[in-house]
Amino acid sequence: MRAQALIFLGAPGAGKGTQAREVAREFGIPHISTGDLLRDAVERETPLGLAAKEKMESGQLIPDEVVSAMVDERIDQPDCAKGFILDGYPRTLAQAEHAGAIFQAKKRGNPLVIDIQVDEDVLLKRLTGRRTCPKCGEIYNVYFHRPKNDERCDIDGSPLNHRADDNEETIRQRLVAYEKQTAPLVEYYGKLSFLHPVDGSKEPPAITQELIEFLRGA
Ligand code: AMP
Repeated sequence: MRAQALIFLGAPGAGKGTQAREVAREFGIPHISTGDLLRDAVERETPLGLAAKEKMESGQLIPDEVVSAMVDERIDQPDCAKGFILDGYPRTLAQAEHAGAIFQAKKRGNPLVIDIQVDEDVLLKRLTGRRTCPKCGEIYNVYFHRPKNDERCDIDGSPLNHRADDNEETIRQRLVAYEKQTAPLVEYYGKLSFLHPVDGSKEPPAITQELIEFLRGA
């Protein structure tokens, strides 16, 4: 894989986090999820977390400058020297333009963008059924990928979390935010020809396999 900056695009529930995690593991590069960084800030009640909490719980986006500053700082860390995967960023045209300028300035080259495409009915089930392990980050789904022991992680036994924003009202709002603010990025990156579409309705392991093969040759 030549590209240093890998971007995973897709609606909430498309499987960005699941796939980014696997691909990051395979290529030995960090998986940077802006949603995870923000949830961590909320949990620790930092000034950023306190300012972001309400917006996240109602399914709205955090201001561009705030998220972009957070990502700029993260990709300057030594573990990102060889490359990194961005999951959930950029999410607006302003963020995409900012990211493009930063990648150029820091000699990271052009990003390679993976667009994971899934129909809305599948997205809803994935989001309402999602559970995550707070300790190791493993992602489950009560419809598609049940933990063996109800509501506990198969790997380390921790009680699983149900994300505060995975409720029906907030999900609706997050999908609206995606359509309005993030979907235009598909066209934006399509024009710059860094875009690789993936059928996200398949089983997660099949998608992972397909992605790894594509990236090995990319
Ligand atoms: P995610 O885990 O990617 O679904 O993100 C959860 C929530 O965090 C979103 O609904 C937003 O409120 C916020 N968020 C995550 N990434 C971004 C971003 N790039 N820009 C603005 N808000 C974000």
